[in-house]
Amino acid sequence: MDNKKLKDHRQIGQELELFFTDDIAPGAPFWLPKGMVIFKELEKYIRELTEKAGYLETSTPIMVKSELFKQSGHWEKFGEHNMYNLHLCDDADDAKQASYTLKPMNCPESTILYRFRPRSYRELPLRLSEIGRLHRKEKSGEVNGLLRVRQITMDDAHIFATEDQISGEVSNILDMMIEFYKSFGFKYEFRLATRPETRAGTDENWDKAEKALERVLKEKGIKAGDKKGDGAFYGPKIDVHIKDAQKREWQLATVQLDFHMPQAFELEYIDKKGDKPRPVMIHRAIFGSFERFIGILTEHFQGSFPIWLSPTQVQIIPISDRHQKYAQKVLEQLNAANIRTKIDNRQETMQAKIRDAQTQKIPYMVIIGDKEEKENKIAVRNRAGQNLGVLQTDEFLSKVKSEIEHKQNVVSNQSIESKA
Ligand code: ZN
Repeated sequence: MDNKKLKDHRQIGQELELFFTDDIAPGAPFWLPKGMVIFKELEKYIRELTEKAGYLETSTPIMVKSELFKQSGHWEKFGEHNMYNLHLCDDADDAKQASYTLKPMNCPESTILYRFRPRSYRELPLRLSEIGRLHRKEKSGEVNGLLRVRQITMDDAHIFATEDQISGEVSNILDMMIEFYKSFGFKYEFRLATRPETRAGTDENWDKAEKALERVLKEKGIKAGDKKGDGAFYGPKIDVHIKDAQKREWQLATVQLDFHMPQAFELEYIDKKGDKPRPVMIHRAIFGSFERFIGILTEHFQGSFPIWLSPTQVQIIPISDRHQKYAQKVLEQLNAANIRTKIDNRQETMQAKIRDAQTQKIPYMVIIGDKEEKENKIAVRNRAGQNLGVLQTDEFLSKVKSEIEHKQNVVSNQSIESKA
């Protein structure tokens, strides 16, 4: 395909009415109803995966006292320049000022969840997930649509585990990443990122953590590329890089091993002997950020999202007014089966309505005229312009339901254009 024809996600977001940015909130997108459908479907998918893997969902405050990030080491590492700090009156009566921070990550607060009460070895591994909203100071010249934002929604999780549980947990996370990226048809690669120059924690812990990750990769037969010195400041990590349709590489998923934060926050658990060792903390994210991931998906699919993500899945096109009643019946039948269906009742020609549905990248169009009504059937087309013939509504319904359930992709407009 000619790369010049490819559209930027910001343009597609405007045209399909998914999202936009406005100078009133640089680096923070506005989500339109159709874009929100995509956002919520992704949220649903990640919740299904995490629930299946034994995670427990939590939520922590967006604004917390800055001292938390001093204790975690983030303050020293990222400085005030990369975080939004606010000086607020803590108490209206004495007007005492306190410094607050809009959390740039969830990690330190997840240790507060852990410390809520004493923990026993029986509770470990404790897998706490959080779809949290974060704020990071990106320079205004560097914010770019959804790809680089100041307000980030992250599919985050922290696992508190014993040292013996590290390899099992990391292995499960890698499996989840593979399942997730395969369902979008992305090619993926793993990279092992080791200790950076400026770091927290002892060399002994770094040795232990790096060896643990190397061992898991070896056990799973995964060949990982090297990212020497690119680890987080508190521990080494395995990153997943994907390649999109335009062969661009993106770093999305990450799993990080951390011996430092449990120490900084004095986390412990009661083991079998009644001793109190520290747990290990594993940080992980599957998409990284909803905003960036949706930006990448938008460009990757050029707006022709897989049917399970498509804001409208089926567009019904009655040929004339006298087909309205039957069209309405089909609409109700599809909507009752949770297939997102709309009807185009405008006084336009059938050709114009088909063209508009294709421009909107709606996976299927259902055309209803005299013949279809008489036979109690529907004529089906896909967004690539292929005619799928005249079907029973039930037959079409089960086909679409199965494609949604299996996260299949329906041929895109692009694949036809590229053949032309
Ligand atoms: Zn974390």
